[in-house]
Amino acid sequence: MQRPHVVIVGGGFGGIAAAQAMRRGNVDITVIDRHNHFVFQPLLYQVASGGLAPSDIAVPIRWYLRQQENTNVLLGDVTAIDLEARTVSIDDGRRVERYDYLVVAAGTRHAYFGHDDWERDAPGLKSLGDALHIRTRFLSAFEQAEFSDDPAERVAWQTIVIVGGGPTGAELAGIMMTIARKALRQDFRRIDTAQTRVILVEGGPRILPTFPENLSARALTDLRAIGVDVRLNAMVSHVDGESVRIGDEVIPTRTVFWAAGNVASPLTRQLGVPTDRSGRVLVEPDLSIPGHSEVFVVGDIAVTTQKDGRPVPGVAQGAIQGGACAGDNVLRTIGRRERKPFRYWNKGDMATIGRHSAVADLGGSLQFGGIIAWFLWIFIHVTYLAGFRNRLVVLVQWAWEYFTYERGVRLILGRRG
Ligand SMILES: Cc1cc2nc3c(=O)[nH]c(=O)nc-3n(C[C@H](O)[C@H](O)[C@H](O)COP(=O)(O)OP(=O)(O)OC[C@H]3O[C@@H](n4cnc5c(N)ncnc54)[C@H](O)[C@@H]3O)c2cc1C
Repeated sequence: MQRPHVVIVGGGFGGIAAAQAMRRGNVDITVIDRHNHFVFQPLLYQVASGGLAPSDIAVPIRWYLRQQENTNVLLGDVTAIDLEARTVSIDDGRRVERYDYLVVAAGTRHAYFGHDDWERDAPGLKSLGDALHIRTRFLSAFEQAEFSDDPAERVAWQTIVIVGGGPTGAELAGIMMTIARKALRQDFRRIDTAQTRVILVEGGPRILPTFPENLSARALTDLRAIGVDVRLNAMVSHVDGESVRIGDEVIPTRTVFWAAGNVASPLTRQLGVPTDRSGRVLVEPDLSIPGHSEVFVVGDIAVTTQKDGRPVPGVAQGAIQGGACAGDNVLRTIGRRERKPFRYWNKGDMATIGRHSAVADLGGSLQFGGIIAWFLWIFIHVTYLAGFRNRLVVLVQWAWEYFTYERGVRLILGRRG
């Protein structure tokens, strides 16, 4: 007899966890992703700033799931979902997969709040492609400043604006400032890279708004101490290739990065169920969608709540635990057992600011800043990296950087777009 076929859209944290939860199940699984690799997104900013190479933080999805015999991986873009026919269409119908159960874990993209034209001049960070694009823009800015004889133009090239004071924005600002001040200084003759301005723009009253206030304040102090110009309650109203406008101030800059918001994969709109303003699906307690108990939505594109009623944040643990819950509920349904509601276990939040500086909120009174949080951050990120090779390489790379301030991967590939 044919086994139930489970299709998983997305091989990120949620999709992989769903597949792994069903590894011993009497099912056939197909994981479909438009990229052939799983990316450890929390370390993308290290690739974007030249600290790590793409292969240090990513592994092929096929390799990741190679020992799972009931699982097949397809490289393709899911372009349509037909809930009535129970099919997903890949690459505009080049291939159609029929499913008995569907897990949608397609993640988010950056949101420009109605200003999609800003993306060209203010790229965001979500994929390895984005990280390499940012790396090129970041490193090229110093080359352009060195190239120019015009003092005003040099200042513009040496001004980096990062929009969004969440963990990604704060981490990018911290590392870019450190690199400009320390790692690059000896490499340039005509410019002083230590004169680089890194401006972090946050629309709200504090950076890291999902962290407790004392840790936000600590992160702010640490960022300012290394020279980052942090602007709070500041809204960017215009971005182009030459400048950024904040209120009445126009800041000449050629290098802007966007870390200010996310929008769900457009696939969520095809499900025809209620979503929030960011397109995230309001799922049932068991993570299925209303009216189609065979379809689950997990990870960043699902709206779920914690025990205390607060929303589950868009973090890796939310996706991993959601994927595992959906996979388990598929097996429970097949085994005619009752489904379990999704319960989020908050394992804590972390963000790193720079050398010896991070903040960690592990719940209750377990809040840390400074060097303790920094070592915790290193330990946890290395532990969760996929593959022993990656863990080893990243540790060696970080140790090297720690003692030498050298950044490993300062190659500019192609010309700045
Ligand atoms: C820069 C950055 C830093 C972060 N830092 C942290 C951190 O420090 N700690 C933390 O806990 N979380 C962090 N996060 C958040 C965390 O990475 C996300 O919460 C998590 O990746 C969500 O998992 P997911 O499975 O929902 O989506 P993703 O991991 O984004 O996976 C979605 C997958 O779906 C694929 N896909 C999308 N659409 C399609 C389609 N139509 N067809 C086929 N495939 C498709 C994508 O290629 C991708 O592989 C960070 C995120 C970013 C971007």
